[in-house]
Amino acid sequence: MKAVALLVAAGSGERLGASRPKAFVVLAGRPMLEWSLDALRAAGLDDVVVALPDGETGYAGVRGGATRSESVRRALAAAPPSEAVVVHDAARPLVWPELFGEALRALDGADAAVAAAQVTDTVKEAGEDHAVVATLDRRRLWAIQTPQAFRRDALERALDVDDGTLAAATDDAWLVERAGGKVVVVPSTPANFKITTPHDLQVAELLLSSRSSG
Ligand code: C5P
Repeated sequence: MKAVALLVAAGSGERLGASRPKAFVVLAGRPMLEWSLDALRAAGLDDVVVALPDGETGYAGVRGGATRSESVRRALAAAPPSEAVVVHDAARPLVWPELFGEALRALDGADAAVAAAQVTDTVKEAGEDHAVVATLDRRRLWAIQTPQAFRRDALERALDVDDGTLAAATDDAWLVERAGGKVVVVPSTPANFKITTPHDLQVAELLLSSRSSG
């Protein structure tokens, strides 16, 4: 299946507290998004559209939107024709190339296939008063990551919603689920973590520095 990749890099990264958008923070000597671009290239995904924040030049791409899914919608509109689409967060620079192929192969029999790590902690649901209302069965729980692979027609249909619904989506696969599509998880590991806090950035710096030196 011919695939294009969308690399979403337009978030501000407020929780990171850096002076520039998160995807452009220097990580082990390079802007964060370049680690994902390398992995995409190594996976043979040469058609990549990057969703960029305002004011960042120097990378070919499109300007992102106010929400993550709006950035995906804009990048998809600019992508060359394909049967499949892989969406990846620039905030996951530790991704390894094989994971893209695994997600794409899992589209055989599904509309979307999402990288995910099985939850190892016990997860409880609590109310605003902190009183626990339920303990979930962790054998069935997965923490969702990117890459997320889609049949392009399913993603295009899923993204054809009003702005409120789009803003409520923390991942694109949810939009496919609510449109009745079949979504499967592709086993990954917590090593593909998302950089959100300064602590995440420190850990990624250590891991990627040792990768480039050895
Ligand atoms: O905010 P969060 O860390 O969940 O963002 C995940 C990814 O989505 C990041 O790579 C970020 O740059 C991207 N994003 C985007 N456009 C937005 C918000 C987030 O491209 N409006």
